[in-house]
Amino acid sequence: MEVSDLVAAKEGYCVKCKAKREIKDPEDITMKNGRPATKGTCPTCGTKIFKIGK
Ligand SMILES: [Zn+2]
Repeated sequence: MEVSDLVAAKEGYCVKCKAKREIKDPEDITMKNGRPATKGTCPTCGTKIFKIGK
């Protein structure tokens, strides 16, 4: 695995699949406390995935 792959693929935990999934259509957001987060959807089931941190 190359380092560039780790940076490119954003993974989050899908509560519906109960597994880690690559976040589809990832969007960088900032939480109310100023910390970065990423939101997107699960490519398998379409459930929203929210991940704290970039
Ligand atoms: Zn899922």
